[in-house]
This record gives sequence, C-alpha cells and structure tokens, in this order.
Amino acid sequence: MIVSNVKKNLGDFSLCVDTFVVSHPGIYGLIGPNGSGKSTLAKIITGLLSPDSGTVDTEGLSAKDITYLSRKPYIMEDTVYNNLVYPLKLRNMKFEENEIAAFLDKMKFTERRNQRAKSLSGGEQQKLSFLRAVIFKPKLIVVDEAMTAMDMESLELFENTIIEEQEKEKSIWIIISHQMPHINRICKKIYSMFDGKLMTDI
Ligand code: ADP
Ligand code: MG
Repeated sequence: MIVSNVKKNLGDFSLCVDTFVVSHPGIYGLIGPNGSGKSTLAKIITGLLSPDSGTVDTEGLSAKDITYLSRKPYIMEDTVYNNLVYPLKLRNMKFEENEIAAFLDKMKFTERRNQRAKSLSGGEQQKLSFLRAVIFKPKLIVVDEAMTAMDMESLELFENTIIEEQEKEKSIWIIISHQMPHINRICKKIYSMFDGKLMTDI
C-alpha cells in the first residue's frame, strides 16, 4: 500500500501525507493525538474517503480484500450469526458451519451466536465487528480504535488472533490505538501522526 502526495481538507483541518508505504505483510501501529488525522488517513487508505489530491496504490488488492474497523461498528438489525456470515455471503464465499462454530468457540463467542447483535455491549459489538472481518480473510485491515472497549482478557485473545491471522494470511494490519502497551506488544513498526502529517517512524 503506497500513499503518495495525499491531501484532504475537512473544515479547518488539512491532511497532508507525502509518502506512506506499507508494502510488507506485518502488523503496524499508527499513533497520534486526537484530531491528528489518523482516521482520515485510515479512511482514505481503505477507500471510504477520497482524497482531494494524491493517490493510494493498494498494490493489486481490490476493495473486497480491504477492510476498516471503526470504534463504533456498523451492526445490522439481525442476529450475531447473521451479522458474522454477511461478508461471506456478500463475497459469494463458501463456508463450513463447523468451521464457523469452531471459530466462535475459540473466540469465546459461542453463547452470543443467536443474540440480537444490537443488544450486545459495546465491547461485544467490537468483538463481533472484528470476527466479521477476520472471517473473510482480508489482506489489508485497518483497526481504528476498534478494540478500545474490550476487557484485558479479550484484548489478549484478539491480539493473539491478529498475530496468528497475519502469519497465516500474510496480510497487512494497521492498528490505530492509544493503548500503547497493546501497540508495543503486537506491532513491528509504529508510525505517528501530528497535525495532519505523518512523522518519521519511531
Ligand atoms: P483522529 O482520528 O486522529 O482523532 P480525524 O482524522 O478523525 O482525527 O480528524 C482530524 C480532524 O479533522 C479533527 O480535528 C476532526 O474534527 C476534523 N474532521 C474530521 N471530519 C471532518 C468533517 N467531515 N468536517 C470537518 N472537520 C472534520
Ligand atoms: Mg480517529
């Protein structure tokens, strides 16, 4: 993924990223204060927002290989299970019921399977959103403060899943978070933003 000369004005905020290259599979961190432009850049990278100028080269990945997880996920008025398999159906991907069951079991989410997804707690909704993404094996995933409401045990379980999935799928994960211990544990490289610009990596 190569970002070149991207500019975006939103009100009095200006994003200006000359170069941001994340081409090698791995888990990367993106940090920075509130309002520094992390979400704006993340949405541009994942195609949810178009830049005023500049380009994002996804190096062969198509929209269906890319996903963006937000802090407040979009949840459909349906059961947890139907929310979960929706991306697979959308992509015409075949899936085995027992694989899904094993996956839910591993992620300690089996008991939520038939619950109305909208009745899940904030942390549980974040878990569902995460599982719904991992299940279709995307190649570029941006996690934008999307694990903030998880308890420590869940965070650890989901972190381990990111590490496993990344290794298995050779995917690129970009984790935006203020939880530094979390970022430090799983990211091989950490980028930071300030005032709409990308700083040198740390
Ligand atoms: P971060 O994710 O780093 O907290 P954002 O990328 O969400 O920051 O936002 C960067 C700045 O742009 C913020 O000051 C925010 O208020 C502003 N902003 C974002 N979207 C809009 C919009 N649609 N209109 C006006 N200002 C916006
Ligand atoms: Mg943000």
